[in-house]
Amino acid sequence: MLEIRKLVLGVCATNCYVVRDETGALYVIDPADDAPAILQEIEKLGGGRYSVLLTHAHFDHILALDGLNPEKVYLHPLEAPALNDPYLNVSAQAGEAAVRSAQTTPVEEGDKVGPFTVLHTPGHRPGAVCFYDEQDGALFSGDTLFASGYGRLDLPEAEPEKMLESIRRLLALPKETRMYPGHGPDTTIGREAEGWRW
Ligand SMILES: [Zn+2]
Ligand SMILES: [Zn+2]
Repeated sequence: MLEIRKLVLGVCATNCYVVRDETGALYVIDPADDAPAILQEIEKLGGGRYSVLLTHAHFDHILALDGLNPEKVYLHPLEAPALNDPYLNVSAQAGEAAVRSAQTTPVEEGDKVGPFTVLHTPGHRPGAVCFYDEQDGALFSGDTLFASGYGRLDLPEAEPEKMLESIRRLLALPKETRMYPGHGPDTTIGREAEGWRW
């Protein structure tokens, strides 16, 4: 069973999840902002080493990255260039992000990170991924799927034509799957699947 702590951080009210798995391993999913607050949650869960999982590289999901010292930062390779893009990422303007993309560990469709399987869900971003713990029935959906909504498709490099396929794929997961999105409240796949009309 995952132990999940949610923080809502930064100017975009982005959800950051600090998670401990059954083995005691710690993960920060989308370190949105306020590194001290994230480190405090890590301490509450026992402290020690942790890894960062990024659902995508939009600035509002990575603002605390420079204030953390994770073992690894997992990111889809299609997202790595975005870390250095000053238009997409405000901190890249300060030249900090170049270091980061060199240090990320690439993850692609089907890869495993601890209890999580990586689902590549392009649309909101070309390299958007979800982290799915099938055993625990938990999905971290980033900005692909929210409670009653989905991520913006009007931003640079969004791929609206791929978004529908990605959302359909997520809604086909078991109904009882708990979903933890990048913005807004938690939900379940069953609740979301009911709300969609095709
Ligand atoms: Zn986003
Ligand atoms: Zn976002």
